[in-house]
Amino acid sequence: VPTRVRMVVGNWKMHGSLALCREMVPAMASIAQPDTALVLCPPAPYLGEVARLAANTDVQCCAQNVADAHSGALTGEWSAGMLADLGCRYAIVGHSERRRHYHETDHMIAAKAQACLEAGITPIVCVGESWVQHQTGQTEVVLQHQLGTLLALPDWRRLIIAYEPVWAIGTGVAAQPDTVEAAHRYIRGRFATRDPIAGNSMTVLYGGSVNAENAMQLFALPDVDGALVGSASLQSDALMQIYTAA
Ligand code: PEP
Repeated sequence: VPTRVRMVVGNWKMHGSLALCREMVPAMASIAQPDTALVLCPPAPYLGEVARLAANTDVQCCAQNVADAHSGALTGEWSAGMLADLGCRYAIVGHSERRRHYHETDHMIAAKAQACLEAGITPIVCVGESWVQHQTGQTEVVLQHQLGTLLALPDWRRLIIAYEPVWAIGTGVAAQPDTVEAAHRYIRGRFATRDPIAGNSMTVLYGGSVNAENAMQLFALPDVDGALVGSASLQSDALMQIYTAA
């Protein structure tokens, strides 16, 4: 069973450039420590450059998406095995933007996570409720459903979960610490009903408007192991401050 890992994951989304890769990776490598993972998720065309620059440093490379198949006539897709070949260790799976704009379902997301596990890539699976679901008290029902599909995977113990309330992503307003802790405790508990030790050992990240100001408070929560950071991950000073808080 993997143990809980402290980690900060920077998701650039469809932003950045070759120049940003060449600025960011050495800057992050200068502060990264082996005990807290520092993971960068550039757009796919830059994965090779980031993987090359991050080799032999404590910075890790992560894809923002991955196919659910290992190879095939699937124009525009890339496999988890290809990511492993580059030296990437992680892939984000099921980000709310993928669910929303590319109609990814829980079933597709579980298949992508499975493909990652088979190729030795650790999937960082995003879950979380919408604003309406939050307002109407459905958070746990939504999480139960999203996690249920993942629990069907034989190797679910090796997943990393990112709790990302959709209403807190890109809004500048993170969820309140008590809301975050309650959701993380629920997520852990859901896995723990299957295997108490594994539930407690899984890495559960928070994502949604994490910045240099709120990072410390979020990382102090007992069931939060780190953060998935969007917009703040494009600025090296902000990402460095968040990483230092972890
Ligand atoms: C994200 O993209 O996963 C995210 C959390 O974005 P932001 O930090 O910008 O809210």
